[in-house]
Amino acid sequence: MAPLFLNCTEGPAPKQQIILNFTAMNSQETAHTTTTHNLLKTHFGFDTFRPNQEEIIENVLAGKNTLTIMPTGGGKSLCFQLPALAMEGTTIVISPLIALMKDQVDALNANGIAASYYNSSQLPEIQDKVLTNLMTGQLKLLYVAPESLWNLTNYFQKTEISLIAVDEAHCISAWGHDFRPAYTQLSRLQQEFPQTPIIALTATADRATQDDIVKQLGMDGAKRFVSSFDRPNIYLDVRPGQQRMQQVLRFLKDKETQSGIIYCLSRKSTLNVAAKLVAKGYKAQAYHAGIEAEERSRIQEDFINDKSPIIVATIAFGMGIDKSNVRWVIHYNMPKNIEGYYQEIGRSGRDGLPAHGLMFYSFADVIMLRKFTEGTQTEAFQLAKLERMQQFAEALSCRRKALLTYFGEHVTQDCGNCDICKTPPNFIDGTLIAQKVCSAVARLKEQEAMGMVLDVLRGSQNAQVFEKGYQNLKTFGAAKDIPWKDLQQYVIQLLNQGILEIWFHENGRLVLTPTAKKILFEGKKIRLADLIQPVEPTTKKAKKKSTRKDLFEKLRTLRTKLATEAGVPAYVIFSDASLEDMEQKLPRTVSEFAEISGVGRAKLEKYADVFLQIIAKHQDTLESKVATHERSFQLFESGMTVAEVSKKRGVSVNTVYGHFLKMHELGHKVNLSQFITSAEIVEVQKAKKELGNPEGLRPYFDYFKEQMPYWKIKFGLFLESV
Ligand SMILES: [Zn+2]
Repeated sequence: MAPLFLNCTEGPAPKQQIILNFTAMNSQETAHTTTTHNLLKTHFGFDTFRPNQEEIIENVLAGKNTLTIMPTGGGKSLCFQLPALAMEGTTIVISPLIALMKDQVDALNANGIAASYYNSSQLPEIQDKVLTNLMTGQLKLLYVAPESLWNLTNYFQKTEISLIAVDEAHCISAWGHDFRPAYTQLSRLQQEFPQTPIIALTATADRATQDDIVKQLGMDGAKRFVSSFDRPNIYLDVRPGQQRMQQVLRFLKDKETQSGIIYCLSRKSTLNVAAKLVAKGYKAQAYHAGIEAEERSRIQEDFINDKSPIIVATIAFGMGIDKSNVRWVIHYNMPKNIEGYYQEIGRSGRDGLPAHGLMFYSFADVIMLRKFTEGTQTEAFQLAKLERMQQFAEALSCRRKALLTYFGEHVTQDCGNCDICKTPPNFIDGTLIAQKVCSAVARLKEQEAMGMVLDVLRGSQNAQVFEKGYQNLKTFGAAKDIPWKDLQQYVIQLLNQGILEIWFHENGRLVLTPTAKKILFEGKKIRLADLIQPVEPTTKKAKKKSTRKDLFEKLRTLRTKLATEAGVPAYVIFSDASLEDMEQKLPRTVSEFAEISGVGRAKLEKYADVFLQIIAKHQDTLESKVATHERSFQLFESGMTVAEVSKKRGVSVNTVYGHFLKMHELGHKVNLSQFITSAEIVEVQKAKKELGNPEGLRPYFDYFKEQMPYWKIKFGLFLESV
């Protein structure tokens, strides 16, 4: 067993080294600097501080409250450990995990620092010994679990407490991703120890959580130090979750010897995925909380020592693992929030070399994660966080920008090292749309959530809008020409680009960022991803090109024939450019033929018929080769609306949607969720449950009082089961 308390030879620092008087700031500051550098070198063996550490330590030593947001591996603990050495008395460290406490105390002891911990797992005589050491002033740091804290306040009152450090401070906030009820008691700290400075630290906290930590701990005016969360060496990659296993195998092909982690949502899938990898010859092991402790630590060791370089795990794996050469992290399913995602991908590339974070995403993941939150105490905000995660997964702008923005860092440059930066969508000038949205948010005094902002912009005539008198706002209906779904997508893009923020802790209201103000008042221009995306796979494009080529050849043959007959050079009939234009525009009528470049009146009269015949014949043979569902989809992809496709093909709208579904089932990339909202999918699911999973669609149609079309019911059922 490791020693609980190492009686270090140095003991507490001699008094003359300790800076006690922080009031005379200017003259003392140099003294701080020398002392802190000495302590850093002497106790921790470092010559220089890491980013932000020194400023934080100065702030703490000045007796001020401090909030520190620093990613894992950034040197967070030093921010209270070093001041603990510089100040007289004992620093109390509140930490939620017994294992973490023990690790930190062991490390401090190893550095010759008098530290110990106190928690309910200890024997009474050991607890007594710890308290005696505390009361006799022998401890520089005492780690305490939040549950044990209030048993000790009497002792704390009778001894000198230099500083209170609240580690993993996000646990205090219901907006954090790891809420612990025992942490809420910590709001009493300020009353019990009004003279003692507090430092709250966490590795992951979005803006809402940061505000909540400050509020709950009563640290008004606390200085915030947010270290950059950027890990530029990790390539961020999100892919649709179809045929995940095949995709994983393809991903791993050139990575046989690399170390990586695959995160799954369930224990069962960790076992399945690991078994499949082993069957393919990979050295992989499953890891989850249900495996016996001894076996778990063996698996962990094998991973750390590269004996078994791949771990397939639930999120139980990774805490406290400091393996620097993890080259990739795969999320087999979408994580439940961005904090978790960031923490997990952050386990790769700690050595600063290139790493790859690959996440699979499907709507089925969202449904499953929603089920996990049902009935929990914090359901509403968990759903809000899940929704933000989904928006990240569906992002059409730089992912790193979205990620950093989420953690309150405002970046202006795209990263160049994410899937979106590498294969960007088509962009349009989004300045006007952004101005409209930002102006609506401003006119709503930043008090409304996304739904209402969209309603106002679209000019929706609903009760809530009228109740609040929003129909009188200048921006009411300012974006009525943009379909609801598209407008929502644009707003999500603005969130991901750091132009707007969602304040989850205040009813999810939308708030403007400094960039938004630049757009509104300084004419800053922005780009938005065009929502009409050509999604054809490359092989299909190549095929299309060759069919086009066929037509061009046919047109050319005709031209040669006509030229020979007329005894003129071919270009006199039509230039190549004209033939290309025909091939592009595929005219069907004489008036359409008149639009072709190089077609004047004379040529129209002379040649329209013969060329139109060739083109029509070519189209007919093509179409007869194309299955009916494919044809509908092709037309839709060419820019027609569903109604137009239905009219052109002489089939019902319902049938057209059926064709899309079929294309999707056949493995084509069809974004079905653009036709149905998440709320509607949930409705269909609910109906399925209430109707007892009936056969056929009629019962659903009746259930929805004939208000939901058949095709939408079908989509709902399909997307739910993916
Ligand atoms: Zn990027």
